[in-house]
Amino acid sequence: MGTILEETKFIMKKYNIKANKSLGQNFLISEEVISAICDASNIQKDDLIIEIGPGLGTLTKYLLEKAGKVISIELDQKMTVILQDRFKYYKNFEIINQDILKVDLPSLIKKEKETNSINNVKVVANLPYYITTPIIMKLLEEELDLETITVMIQKEVADRLTAIPGEKQTGAITYSVYYYAEAQSILEVPNNSFIPEPEVTSEVIQLKVRKQPPVKIEQKEKMFHIIKCAFMQKRKTLLNSLVNTKIFPNKEQGLKILQELGIDENIRAEKLSLQDYANIMCRLGQAPTVH
Ligand code: SAM
Repeated sequence: MGTILEETKFIMKKYNIKANKSLGQNFLISEEVISAICDASNIQKDDLIIEIGPGLGTLTKYLLEKAGKVISIELDQKMTVILQDRFKYYKNFEIINQDILKVDLPSLIKKEKETNSINNVKVVANLPYYITTPIIMKLLEEELDLETITVMIQKEVADRLTAIPGEKQTGAITYSVYYYAEAQSILEVPNNSFIPEPEVTSEVIQLKVRKQPPVKIEQKEKMFHIIKCAFMQKRKTLLNSLVNTKIFPNKEQGLKILQELGIDENIRAEKLSLQDYANIMCRLGQAPTVH
């Protein structure tokens, strides 16, 4: 076989495929990038790899050679027909034709662990960019038994997900990701590594799922709600944002809480650490008003 580009063009022609933009179909054609994704995932023979959006199967092919089993989840039925055909001789391949956001991942992983000699479960994917955040949050919030999540996403989102709370480039999501995982950037990927070329720059990131959260807190949903409220009005001070969103009953009490916790009254949402938000949550001592 020739290059991945030639192979991709051949498959697209054979099955009369045009990339579907609304499904985020940008097919990888760089062997170098695929190798970097596989190396970062450190795939072993007793690993189960869950691949989201396999498309024409370019990355899948490499995963199948390295992993114990690969389960690929693809929404586009046209792609699943191609994949079934392309990998029909691989005994370690399974395809699920479903929207990833609707897949019951806890049951899937439980079943695989019980029936196959699987040690670690890892997610590897070149994600459909239009649902990057919901997919990542699903993988983390369901508290799945995952080792790592190695994904290609748009660089702008990658910057926010890999930022450290309290430092630059953060958003409310930075804190959620940090709670569940240690995130790192693996590789910036030029647009010409795909056909068709995406309109945004891409980056491969890896999330190492934490065994223990970095802060101990009973009602994490309430803490995340406070963080969301703090970031709703990013240009305002934390105090004003939390008063406006009724997390603090009024300015005087809000000021008192911040002073007690040693937090500067003029600080902005992105300057706080996760522990600062956990402290605010504990200090409030009761459920914040949810709107
Ligand atoms: N893995 C392939 C590659 O690297 O060449 C294709 C990646 S492409 C960026 C994203 C893939 O996700 C497409 O095949 C698309 O059909 C699929 N997809 C889009 N929405 C999906 C969803 N909700 N659930 C599962 N797969 C989805």
